[in-house]
Amino acid sequence: MGARKQRSPDLATIAVHTGAEQRDSDLPVVPPLYQSVNFIQDVGTGEGLRYPRYGNAPNAELVQARIAALEGAESSVLLASGQGATACALMALLRPGDHLLASAFIYGGTSQLLTTEFTALGIDVTLVNPLETRVWRTHVRKHTRAIFLETPINPTCRVLDLRPVSYVTKEAGIALVVDSTFASPINLRPLEYGADVVIHSATKYLNGHHDILGGVVCGTSSYTDEVRQKMKLWGQAPDPFAAWLLERGLKTLDVRVQRHNENAMRVAEWCAERKEIRRVHYPGLPSHPDHQIASETMSGFGGMMAIELTGGARAAERFLKKLKLFRHAPSLGGVDSLVSEPRFTSHAHLTPAERAAVGIPDGFLRLSIGIESAADLIDDIEQALR
Ligand SMILES: *Cc1c(COP(=O)(O)O)cnc(C)c1O
Repeated sequence: MGARKQRSPDLATIAVHTGAEQRDSDLPVVPPLYQSVNFIQDVGTGEGLRYPRYGNAPNAELVQARIAALEGAESSVLLASGQGATACALMALLRPGDHLLASAFIYGGTSQLLTTEFTALGIDVTLVNPLETRVWRTHVRKHTRAIFLETPINPTCRVLDLRPVSYVTKEAGIALVVDSTFASPINLRPLEYGADVVIHSATKYLNGHHDILGGVVCGTSSYTDEVRQKMKLWGQAPDPFAAWLLERGLKTLDVRVQRHNENAMRVAEWCAERKEIRRVHYPGLPSHPDHQIASETMSGFGGMMAIELTGGARAAERFLKKLKLFRHAPSLGGVDSLVSEPRFTSHAHLTPAERAAVGIPDGFLRLSIGIESAADLIDDIEQALR
């Protein structure tokens, strides 16, 4: 009998164990929370100095090992928020005079960070429509250092194909940076498709319980060392308690995301049959423009979807007031189902006509499908449409 080939663990197992594999007698099964900012240091050396702001608090180190393993990255850094993660990830790549080519369809906070703060630092930023053909190749310049994009895109759930973008970044010798918050590593691992850096708002699916802020940057060890240095100097490290809660949240990442995927598919299919709903945006539906790309590159279609009510803004307001299970709140990616109206949140700065032009007409609602029973979620939508 030949020796059984050694398999590497699946994501569901990594999510529970990686980074905390101690098996000695008497150790607690749950990694303890080290809610301490100071750690006793060896005399006569500066080596091994631990301080949470340096990114080496024990609870942060555990989470960093686990998330790196989930993304298939050499290393990761945990930061205080998704916004802090994006800021430090890009500051580690860009210097004054450099050019950043970014998708225009990104989180509002990121877009403001790029167009106000980064521009003030002397970094040249170009925002482009990522759905236009050959757009990346056309806009790469001599001083371009990185391409930044998000997929799936908020709130239209468009899915970008990373493969052609990575041909451009590899050829130009620049970094492809992907904010993969909407997908989570269960549904998409961007490094497998040529990305160099993966960013998450851990506030969303990674933690999944609506109770902490966090962010993470994944990449090579030499790159994450630079991100850690930015984090340390700009004070963007997480608190140990947030890291401890995130570790607990990560344990159920695989089961949660599977359920988000199943629920969203059922809700999307149901909504697609209703005359009160003009359009459903969900990459799992064959009618979605990116269904093919999503099927090829993602392991699941995700828990985010959007609907457009036939009755427009007035119908949306009535619908929101009648919902009982879905709560009207921004943010996403947690166990509770939430609904938000981009015209009052991420796209409030545009006029109705401008919003319609980017595919978000009045009456457009974004749904973050939770892990409740899909039948109950559908009942809730049905009674609110009546
Ligand atoms: C929420 C979010 C962010 C910002 O993360 P915070 O944890 O709120 O700082 C960045 N990108 C995407 C796609 C997000 O959804």
